[in-house]
Amino acid sequence: MEQAFSQAFSQAFSLPDFNHRMLGVAVTAVLDALDQGPGAWHFRLFGTEVRVQPWFWLTIIFAGGRDDARAALIWIAVCFVSILLHEFGHVGAMRLVGERPEVVLSAYGGLTRSNRLTMRSTATQLLVSLAGPAAGFCFAALILAVDRAAGAHAGAPYINLLFHDLMYVNVGWGLVNLLPIYPLDGGQSTRALLEHYNPQQGKRRSLLLSAITAAVVAVVGVFLSSIFVVILFGVLGAASAQEFEKLRPTLKRDYRHF
Ligand SMILES: [Zn+2]
Repeated sequence: MEQAFSQAFSQAFSLPDFNHRMLGVAVTAVLDALDQGPGAWHFRLFGTEVRVQPWFWLTIIFAGGRDDARAALIWIAVCFVSILLHEFGHVGAMRLVGERPEVVLSAYGGLTRSNRLTMRSTATQLLVSLAGPAAGFCFAALILAVDRAAGAHAGAPYINLLFHDLMYVNVGWGLVNLLPIYPLDGGQSTRALLEHYNPQQGKRRSLLLSAITAAVVAVVGVFLSSIFVVILFGVLGAASAQEFEKLRPTLKRDYRHF
């Protein structure tokens, strides 16, 4: 994701190759320093290493925008637990197929890294990518069942808020994550599927689909007046469009058949 971000950033602003590489090195160095730096929180959960960078909390607080301290704490707790659960969906699937993953919670959200060096099969890639959102949906269904069983709680605004936040993050973000936009889970799944059915054109088609979908979401962000959505999906869409252009078959290759 770090690499994807620096790539997306430099591609979005069409920097020349040299600056592009320098920027990549600089961004990676800064991110690595932050990764190791003070304030990063390390722990092991079910045998998997988890690292929480200080910037993770800042992004969450920024995304929540709560002015009531108790409401802000509920939002932070919901995001932390739900994002960790999502990543552990990926962790479970990776361990199932014999990989050794680790989880990093950074300014860009959650990321599960694997020690795998070779390409995954289509089925494995789908399993790994979809396990994250699936974990969130299962958790949301459990919360919904508990809420139904507990009955009405109209007089408890913070319980209502907790319920709303849990649904918003686990179902709402889960659905957004399933959009066919690279490098979201949906984008990785679509790429795996399209490459499976058409090894030559699959990657290009997935990038085109990713660019178009991201552009549509960015336009929706304009109508919702959400600068966060416009910037995030604008950058992701630009990166996919740039990558799509790079994979354009050359004329030379087409003429070789004559
Ligand atoms: Zn995911």
